[in-house]
Amino acid sequence: MKIIGRVESEAITDVRCDVCNESTRLENGNLQYETLEAHWGYGSAHDGKRYEAHLCERCFFNTLAYLKQARRTLHLFDGDPRSPEGDLGLVTRNDLFRDGG
Ligand SMILES: [Zn+2]
Repeated sequence: MKIIGRVESEAITDVRCDVCNESTRLENGNLQYETLEAHWGYGSAHDGKRYEAHLCERCFFNTLAYLKQARRTLHLFDGDPRSPEGDLGLVTRNDLFRDGG
């Protein structure tokens, strides 16, 4: 026998960007954000610290641009074969359903 009744539960209603504090909810209602995360382990300078930052699309790509600039600067004179304009961190394209493409 099923007994149906109202229950109260908590759910994520919004995710705000940790940089610009804007909502990551699009007009279609979908939340679009990415997570920059790290969990530093034994032997690291930050042993035991765990980070999780939620970024909107604009701040994510601003962060990526910063990292590309840092790579470009660090390898300015050593002939690093990686293109400074390359897709740093890009794993796949056309993975529209998050199933590996
Ligand atoms: Zn943002």
